[in-house]
Amino acid sequence: MSRWVGGVEAGGTKFNCLVGAAPDVIAAEIRIPTTTPDETIAQALGFFEPYARRGELAAIGIDSFGPVDLDPLSPTYGYITTTPKPGWAGVDLRGQIQRALNLPVAFDTDVNAAAFGEFRWNPENRRLESLVYMTVGTGIGVGVIANGRPLHGLLHSEAGHLAVPHDVNRDPFPGVCPYHGDCLEGLACGPAIARRWGRPAEMLPAGHPAWELEAEYLALGLANLIYTLSPQRIVLGGGVTLHVELYEIVRRKVQQILNGYLRSPLLLERIDHYLVPPALGGRSGVLGAIAMAKQAAGQGD
Ligand code: ZN
Repeated sequence: MSRWVGGVEAGGTKFNCLVGAAPDVIAAEIRIPTTTPDETIAQALGFFEPYARRGELAAIGIDSFGPVDLDPLSPTYGYITTTPKPGWAGVDLRGQIQRALNLPVAFDTDVNAAAFGEFRWNPENRRLESLVYMTVGTGIGVGVIANGRPLHGLLHSEAGHLAVPHDVNRDPFPGVCPYHGDCLEGLACGPAIARRWGRPAEMLPAGHPAWELEAEYLALGLANLIYTLSPQRIVLGGGVTLHVELYEIVRRKVQQILNGYLRSPLLLERIDHYLVPPALGGRSGVLGAIAMAKQAAGQGD
């Protein structure tokens, strides 16, 4: 049996590529700057080809920025569809890699893969069947694990664009989402914080009113996800969440919004075990791709 699988996390600024079998069993790993599709995909293939030629790869997992087409019956399955990133709309990411390496390929969104990485590799999550991963950075993305698998549907979850209450008297900022203005992402992503307060999140000190407002929007979005999906754990990550105060405020506000309605001890008494930072740090996505590849190779458990 092939010893390794490959993982590709296709991001807007870099491609993380990894050959390995688990977070602590890694043969090689590289980061490729995302330039043109031809150049970037060729470099990624150059990284994997020696392993594939020697028969050492059982499968490849790919996760990508999007939106992407996840419908296996669609003629554009595995394509990046409508991204505003120049040159990348309509790119057949999955197909190009599959044809070049001739291996089973698993394909998903970057946030579903990150959710699956946390779900599969954090030992504390091993008994769970559901998990939500939310990342707050240049946008807000949400990945969902339901019944042990990444959730797909008509397309894929876009819960970053949830509608949340927006009190324009208190917060007159109109939001930055080009489609909805003041959806969750429009009000609470990194660029929204920077535009509203005139400086980026990392330059806003503890105690600044920005953090109460940010935490409130995130908590409103998370409460809606808790009501809808009833996830057994929520992983909250992304650049904006590196601010030390944020988790505490978000947890408190989630409890305030739920107002004791959901009678779970995890929500009422141990919310610090329920709403947590990523155990895999910034590597949830690429390690999620490894977990997806193992499943595609029949090595999942
Ligand atoms: Zn939106």
